[in-house]
Parts: sequence; structure tokens; C-alpha cells
Amino acid sequence: MTAGRPGAGSHPQDELLVFYSADLEAYNFGRSHPLQPERYRLTMELIEGLGLLDGPGIEVVPPRHALTSELLKIHSYPYLQAVRRAQNIAKEQAEHVDLRFFGLGDADNPYFPAMYEASSLAAGASLQAMEAILEGQTRRAYNMAGGLHHAGRDRASGFCIFNDVAIAINRALEDGLRVAYVDLDAHHGDGVQELFYDEPRVLTISIHESGRFLFPGTGDMEEQGNGKGYGAAINIPLPPRSGNGAYIFALEAIIEPALRAFRPDVLVTQTGCDSHWSDPLTHLGATLELYPVLGRNLDRLAREITDGRWLILGGGGYDPLSITPRAWAGFIAGALGHNPPPSVLPASWLDHVRRQGAEAPESLLADPGPRFEPLGASVVVHLAELFRDGLIRNLAAESLSA
Ligand SMILES: [Zn+2]
Repeated sequence: MTAGRPGAGSHPQDELLVFYSADLEAYNFGRSHPLQPERYRLTMELIEGLGLLDGPGIEVVPPRHALTSELLKIHSYPYLQAVRRAQNIAKEQAEHVDLRFFGLGDADNPYFPAMYEASSLAAGASLQAMEAILEGQTRRAYNMAGGLHHAGRDRASGFCIFNDVAIAINRALEDGLRVAYVDLDAHHGDGVQELFYDEPRVLTISIHESGRFLFPGTGDMEEQGNGKGYGAAINIPLPPRSGNGAYIFALEAIIEPALRAFRPDVLVTQTGCDSHWSDPLTHLGATLELYPVLGRNLDRLAREITDGRWLILGGGGYDPLSITPRAWAGFIAGALGHNPPPSVLPASWLDHVRRQGAEAPESLLADPGPRFEPLGASVVVHLAELFRDGLIRNLAAESLSA
């Protein structure tokens, strides 16, 4: 690997290692499933075509698989065996059994022929990305096929087989570091929260559509951690139709002061873009304008608080052709300091989108927006006051600086 080391000629703002190969598309539950893996190729083509990867400290690195021993740090052995079994059933190399006890084989997580290999590659990419940061090869690394935040120790959930987020965070803990995890996905980051619920060295923050309206049903603000980890879980549940203003205000009024109080060594973000108004699974009402703003602000916070150390992972986004690639390219443009982001879409990318049968958008952030007036910042004001008075003060307390 030849990526520029921090301070070795490249401006830190330009550093990014992208862990990507077309093999990540093998994570494929089938044509009728909401998660369509072509979103990875279309995102990659778009960020390359926009020139976002042209900087000297930016490089694309093919990922490796996570080893069994690495997966076992987060998942149980019976669960790994169940995923292997599911893969063999899909390949018709094993007798069909019901693995629904492990969350496998239902409509959300159907068996597929590359299930184990593709899941361990997505996990390996996040782990390798974290290792590149820990070893000082880069300050920032990206795995768009990561962010599988619902998976638990013994179960698949919500399209997530292995919890690559937790595997990467755990790797940083092994080096004695403190980690802040910010989950921007429209769904609550329940798997990651649960795996570190007692852990004072990991702050998990999730902003999401309230569990009263959306899967997985958890993520109330009363969920604040347990035991020594009490105070190190923050949940910002939003009502449907909240829109960009709620996200931006929550970032400013809750996430930013929480990160400053906690003082992590590394920032990890899950950048699911299913908060977009057109997403078929959710109802938050964001527009494409939101994602560059989030990227820009998180980059600023990472540089202020973690000396730029920032692992960027993917997540939800169920319009795979037009919206998800543009939302993610917008986020990365913001993270890399392109303000405003380049707007002219590459001709080859537009051809690709048209060939898939989608309408070609006019520019990177062109977006007619939802047909309703978003609720905006007001839905977060009350939560922000409660957090300021209680939780955020707890974060700075000695009990959490273990
Ligand atoms: Zn989601």
C-alpha cells in the first residue's frame, strides 16, 4: 500500500482509503429484495467520475475476508456455523433446515449462495479499513458495503449478517482506544448499541425514525447504556417527515457536544441514506442536499476531536440507481471538502443509470423534494434540552473515562 501517511506531503483533508472491489456485490439476497448490490458499483462509478478520488492521498484497495477468528470476537460459533449451513442450503449442498432461530431464511434475510463468503468480505473490508487507520496508513477509510448495524451476536437481522461495525470498533478497543459511533441511518443501530451497551469506551449515537413507526422498534431516548456503560448510548428518535432540518439541528445540538464531551480517539459513522424522502422503506423526508452537509460537518468534527481519524461505513439506501449513489457521492464530496460538491454527472454514469431503466437526474443533488413541508429542527429541540441537562454532562464525568 502506498497511501500518503499523515503529514507526508498530502493535506490530511485529501486522505481517504476506499476499500472496494466488485466482489462486494456478491452480498445479494436476490432481485426482489430491497437491498440491491449494484448500488456499490454505481456509487463507485459516480465518485470516480466526479473526480472525487483524484487526490494524492486517495487510493482504492481491494478488501480481504474477515477470518473466522476475527468474526468470533463479535459472533458466536453456533451462529457462524448457521450462516455456513445457510450458504450450503442455498447452493443445495445441504438438506434444507429451518435456521430462523438465527434470523436466517426469512423474507428479510433469505439464504443465498455466497452468504458466508460475501458477508465475511463486507466485514473484512471494515476491519481492514479500521486497521489502516490504527496503523497510521491513513486518517480516513471508507467501506460503502459496511454499516450492517442490525446483526447481533447470534442472529441475522434487517439484511445484516455479520456486524462489521462492531468488528471494526472492537479492533480499536483492542488497541486501547475510545470510539464514538454515529449512526445516521433511518433505522435504529440496535445491533451495535446492544453489543457495546455495557462498554464505557464506546459511545453509540443513533439518529433514526422512531421505533414506534419503523423497524427494529428500539432506539427510545431512555436507552442510555447499562452498568459502566450507562450514559454512553444516545438515541435521537425522530417522527416521520422530520426532514433535513431535524438531522442538521441534532448534529449541532446533540451529536457535536456529545463527541466533544466524550473525546474519542476514533470516529466511526454509519451513513445509511434511507432517510431520503423517496426511500421505499422509511418516512423521514430528507433531500439530497442533506448528505454533503453531514459529510462536511463530520469531517470538521473528526479533525477537531479525533485528529481526523474517521472510519466511514455505508448502510441503508433502497433506491439503488439514482438516489443512493448520489447521496453517498454527496456525503463523500462533503467529507473531502468539496464545497459545493461537483454537480455535473459523468456521461458514462448517466448511461449506466438509463440502461438500468431509471430516469437520468439532471445534477448530483437535483431533487424535487417531498410533497409535504418537513417538520424540521423543532422536533429535536426538546430532546436537545434534555440531553444537555443530563446525558451529555454524564459523558464528561469520570465514570466514563475508564
Ligand atoms: Zn436503514
